[in-house]
Amino acid sequence: MTSDSTNDLECERLTKRFGAFTAVDDVSFEIPSGSFFSILGPSGCGKTTLMRMIAGFEEPAAGDIRIRGRSVIGTPANKRNVKMVFQHLALFPMMNVGENIAYGLRCAGVGRAEVERRVGAVLERIGLPGVETKQINQLSGGQKQRIAIARCMVLEPDVLLLDEPLGALDLKLRERMKIELKLLQHQFDTTFVYITHDQSEALVMSDRVAVMNGGRFEQIGTPQELYHAPATGFVAGFVGDSNRWRGRVRGGGELLEVETGDGVRLRCRPGAGALAEGAAVEVFVRPEALSLQPAGAPEAEGPANSPANRLEGRVDSLLFNGAASRVLVRGAGDQLVEVGHVPGPGVPELRPGDAVVLGFAPAEATCFAAASA
Ligand code: ATP
Repeated sequence: MTSDSTNDLECERLTKRFGAFTAVDDVSFEIPSGSFFSILGPSGCGKTTLMRMIAGFEEPAAGDIRIRGRSVIGTPANKRNVKMVFQHLALFPMMNVGENIAYGLRCAGVGRAEVERRVGAVLERIGLPGVETKQINQLSGGQKQRIAIARCMVLEPDVLLLDEPLGALDLKLRERMKIELKLLQHQFDTTFVYITHDQSEALVMSDRVAVMNGGRFEQIGTPQELYHAPATGFVAGFVGDSNRWRGRVRGGGELLEVETGDGVRLRCRPGAGALAEGAAVEVFVRPEALSLQPAGAPEAEGPANSPANRLEGRVDSLLFNGAASRVLVRGAGDQLVEVGHVPGPGVPELRPGDAVVLGFAPAEATCFAAASA
């Protein structure tokens, strides 16, 4: 089956079962040419299985996969113009850099002079010109990553699949490689499909992200859409940091009133679908959406008809992390609430044990049906 499209990859109602277990369940998506697309989800949600079907290492039980508009169901992996970078990179340690990159071209019968030209050109593009004769063990972790990508890109794939390639790197290098990968993707202008369980990797690098859970896609969107307008409670909890209160709906309207198990009343906006009186729900609020004042300080005025939610608590601990600093406040029912709070001039100084009042606008509190009542 073929389709006219400018999409590099389309998956339609893709399903994979292992015996009675459904690892990938009716998943559909399309990826426009030249984009960075991530599949984000917890361990075991089916990311690798989905990737293996696209690469041709697993056959789906149902559904279609189209690369540049042509169905590849039944096409063996080596006949699909798709390449894959693995977490362990799979570079050949006995070959030097040039031989590693040339390997696929040689297997494809490309002539010696053309191989040399293309290897030189791809090393130039990844910012490592002239390293052909270096041994793999002479490279840094970041250089090995780039060589693994170059080895795939020299073959000019329609789509490059990356299976948690940064997972084995230390934190600092991982942070740097996130940015480098994004730049490399721009440079090659090739579609990258990146799978990860690390939401910060997905948010930083991707044009669009699919959040996967239990074999299904919960939401596909830009990083901003996932962060600011999550479609489900799972996405609200998995993407970015959130505080979460469990409770029951006690009043309806444009804004819902929710009573938590500790008797705190919160006004919030419904995230998706109607929620009936009495329904078990979860309310999500980002740490940076909470204001914090020492108890007894004059209250800030909120917009008319929409009084801010107000919670009392005591400072538990202060976590300094530059612009991402947090205060942990112990509120009703002993729940720890994470508040974005950057110490500095003009900001009240806080100590553990201080009584504080937290506030947040109802628009900043999103409410979803509880995953389990
Ligand atoms: P991780 O991030 O831990 O790699 P994942 O999201 O990539 O996880 P998959 O490796 O796709 O998850 O696995 C999804 C589910 O399918 C898991 O429950 C796994 O145990 C199961 N599974 C994967 N491969 C097989 C197989 N060959 N036979 C049986 N079950 C399998």
